[in-house]
Amino acid sequence: MLIRQLTETMINQIAAGEVIERPASVVKELVENALDAGASRIEIATAGGGLTLLRVTDDGCGIAADELPLAVARHCTSKLGDDINDIRSLGFRGEALPSIGSVARLALRSRTADGDGGAEILVEAGRVSPVRPVAANRGTTVEVRDLFFATPARLKFMRNERAEAAAISETVKRIAVAFPSVRFTLSGTDRTALDLSATEEDGTFIRRIGQVLGRDFTENSIPIEAEREGVQLFGHVSIPSYSRGNALQQYAYVNGRPIRDKLIAGAIRGAYMDALPRDRHAVAVLFLSLDPALVDVNVHPSKADVRFRDPGLVRGLIVGAIREALSRQGLRSATTGAAAMLEAFRAAAAPRPNGSHHAGWSAVTSPSRPLDAGFAEGVQTMFDTGAGISGDTRAGTAELPAEALRAPLGVARAQVHQNYIVAQTEDSLIIVDQHAAHERLVYESLKQAIHSRPLPSQMLLLPEIVDLPEEDAERIAAHAEFFRRFGLGLERFGPGAIAVRETPAMLGKTDAAELVRDLADEIAEDDTANSLKERIDRIAATMACHGSVRSGRRLQAEEMNALLRQMEATPGSGTCNHGRPTYIELKLADIERLFGRR
Ligand code: ADP
Ligand code: MG
Repeated sequence: MLIRQLTETMINQIAAGEVIERPASVVKELVENALDAGASRIEIATAGGGLTLLRVTDDGCGIAADELPLAVARHCTSKLGDDINDIRSLGFRGEALPSIGSVARLALRSRTADGDGGAEILVEAGRVSPVRPVAANRGTTVEVRDLFFATPARLKFMRNERAEAAAISETVKRIAVAFPSVRFTLSGTDRTALDLSATEEDGTFIRRIGQVLGRDFTENSIPIEAEREGVQLFGHVSIPSYSRGNALQQYAYVNGRPIRDKLIAGAIRGAYMDALPRDRHAVAVLFLSLDPALVDVNVHPSKADVRFRDPGLVRGLIVGAIREALSRQGLRSATTGAAAMLEAFRAAAAPRPNGSHHAGWSAVTSPSRPLDAGFAEGVQTMFDTGAGISGDTRAGTAELPAEALRAPLGVARAQVHQNYIVAQTEDSLIIVDQHAAHERLVYESLKQAIHSRPLPSQMLLLPEIVDLPEEDAERIAAHAEFFRRFGLGLERFGPGAIAVRETPAMLGKTDAAELVRDLADEIAEDDTANSLKERIDRIAATMACHGSVRSGRRLQAEEMNALLRQMEATPGSGTCNHGRPTYIELKLADIERLFGRR
């Protein structure tokens, strides 16, 4: 066999296979270059889903005429100093422009602040033209036509124009979130235009996040902020009643770089485990910043994957910060619910043309019909006076203990429709979903009980020997102590094997080999073994569901009040195990407004 050196163009085309997967990847690389050049305004134009034309114009520092040939040459970059461990720019590999030039028709036009005039260089399927002077504004314009014309095999894999155009929008939005002071515009015959005006930098990014993810999100999200061992985290995450059917609206950034990372996705899932059903996903924008030496971005040419030096730390930071924020907001979900309820009441009075802006979102529970006769019929009076709600009309609130009225969930006044507790505070009316609330309380106390001491285990008649790759066996053995707390008893069994002697009794009959392999994968991935705890918590949730007060059970006044007090004392009790609110609070002022008294 003859061994030959590949041509420069072939080498670039091979690199392009990894860096330039579709038009959106070109946009990502060009926008990153513009940001690295310090642009404050970036215009993107597309045609034919970006396959016919892609043009990115910026007002950044520009490229000097005599450097244009270097900019399109492989492995030439102005961004990397002498240390590959200290990457502070979005680009560093020096391969985007030559890769694009090897598979398309590329025109690079630029002018620096101190240069005499503009200059242009063309690259067509790898053939570079001489630099020539052109008229140009300060900054850089990169035009890419006929993407993949030089690599027809790749062209065949492109989806339709609309899908490619949508992927470009998604890419631009994702990057734009991390650069609120830069204006981004996106236009073209293949799309609806997008204009993200620069928002002032207030440190929370909330206005830019609102531009990209919508006001619905900003109104239904809570800020998070945390720091641990030099790793900083801030961002905004959705409240449990605002969730989506997929995880696409989870944006994560490491030192300003948008990344897709299983560790972060897993941490978000873990944080919401108690608050969302398994098939719902939180919306989240998370910014991590840490010393560039503690994170490796040089994992894949697309620079979207990262590896953290200490994955467990990052996971713990995210889970902790989100959980803390969720327990803080317990009350908020109740007012969101109330807002939806007020909206529905108003809608009943005067139908509005554009409907509810919550359409398409799950769970913000709003009553489907206004107060009706059935409501009145269902009222069961609960007080010894036998007067209930109408008694209150006579007696006023004077007879109710003032102290209890000041409690966040007030005093129970009645149970209606055999499931809703109506309570009264000093200035509001509270409606509690008795089943949902109780289920949550049972779950929280079960979890407490479960994790406060080692879990019971079930001895296997014969130990099960699980064969694993040696690294996995080692990782599992290193976590043996941790597993024992959950009732999983195992030990090393020679090279590449683990002997399982006991399994957690709560899991019932278990495939020990499968469990151990899953755990090994998980530890390999992010150095934690949370799925065992998660499995056990899930069982607790199921048990809670069966063990809790079904709707339909009549409660005595004392029982209702006891439930209210317990809810107040339990973090996380504002939402049920499925993320719906467990109670709704209607302010007296809002009720009065409904009746036109204000
Ligand atoms: P990298 O971004 O990894 O350095 P690229 O191939 O994307 O590699 O770009 C090569 C070089 O061209 C960059 O290092 C930079 O000096 C220059 N360059 C590319 N795009 C721009 C731009 N929009 N403005 C200023 N300089 C640019
Ligand atoms: Mg680049």
